[in-house]
Amino acid sequence: MSDNPSFVLRGVEDVVYEQRPIPEIADDEVLVAVKKTGICGSDVHYLVEGRIAQFVVEKPMVLGHESSGIVSKVGRKVKSLKVGDRVAMEPGATCRTCDACKSGRYELCADIVFAATPPYDGTLARFYPIPSDLCYKLPDHLTLEEGAMMEPLSVAVHAVANIAGLRSNQSVAVFGAGPVGLLCMAVAKALGARRVIAIDIVPARLEFAKGFAATETFVPPKMEPGEARMRYSERNAKKMTEDLGIEERGPNSIDLVVDASGAEVSIQTGIIIAKMGGTFVQLGMGSPEIVIPVTTLLTKEIDFKGSFRYGPGDYALSVALAGSGKIDLKSIITHRFSFDQAIEAFQTTRAGKSPDGKAVIKAVISGPDVSLSDL
Ligand SMILES: [Zn+2]
Ligand SMILES: [Zn+2]
Repeated sequence: MSDNPSFVLRGVEDVVYEQRPIPEIADDEVLVAVKKTGICGSDVHYLVEGRIAQFVVEKPMVLGHESSGIVSKVGRKVKSLKVGDRVAMEPGATCRTCDACKSGRYELCADIVFAATPPYDGTLARFYPIPSDLCYKLPDHLTLEEGAMMEPLSVAVHAVANIAGLRSNQSVAVFGAGPVGLLCMAVAKALGARRVIAIDIVPARLEFAKGFAATETFVPPKMEPGEARMRYSERNAKKMTEDLGIEERGPNSIDLVVDASGAEVSIQTGIIIAKMGGTFVQLGMGSPEIVIPVTTLLTKEIDFKGSFRYGPGDYALSVALAGSGKIDLKSIITHRFSFDQAIEAFQTTRAGKSPDGKAVIKAVISGPDVSLSDL
């Protein structure tokens, strides 16, 4: 059987549809008929640059990793799923035997097989084979589109709930109101944060953030010609603390800063506005090397942490938060494309808006047999 149309990246700016063989599954795997796939900045990055950091596309690779679908075949040893189950698919299969896996941080596994990270194929195909425990059954009232959004939501859950360990009644500032930043705000709100401050240079994004999960918003001032970045960040932080009444200590201080922008000035500003003994989580991938106010970090004893993908419990919490109505994933899906229009979905995500001018938060591509109206 070879009826498995797949959307394949062959090289920079070079994508084609290929017929691939229908994958065989192992005893502990299931074969999922992929129905909905969200497009991520990383997918676009591979298309445009052919690489992200040390991951280089050297042979043709199927794109896509934010997916949901319907179980179409189960391996001999699978007990938890049956044909017809609607599932969100966690796209990283780990070795289960290394120190990282065994200590409960499987996102750090050196042997992770991650969809659409070279050399491994992604999910933009009719079928995708996956270990059964990486499939999360969706409650009946959630759509398959919402199921696909469990991937970016899990990135946010990992950062805010797991890495930062946010507690109720804390205050959070999120730099960057793109999809992941917005979802971090939503997770913070859902977990009971008191203040959720959204910071972005695009006012329209903040407008959306306000209706979505932010309690306050802040547009940074413009950088002066010739102004050094750190001086700008100090000025930015001062304005922010004045405008929003942020203090270094006490109830008006910021317990957690999440950078979902990757911008140097955001990271600098975030360190300056965090409270004494506060937490800073780096989530945005921007320039790989930046300057930070390290003495401020030291004297405030800021807990500076990296957050990468997701680990144990994150997908389950995502499904629970969305399933219980605490997070609305429907409103972040702004654009829908059929499988035949996959290239347009990438172009639209890359441009940040569709030809009609509508801004993209998330574009979703349907599976080969799925109609656009079937959510
Ligand atoms: Zn993603
Ligand atoms: Zn491992």
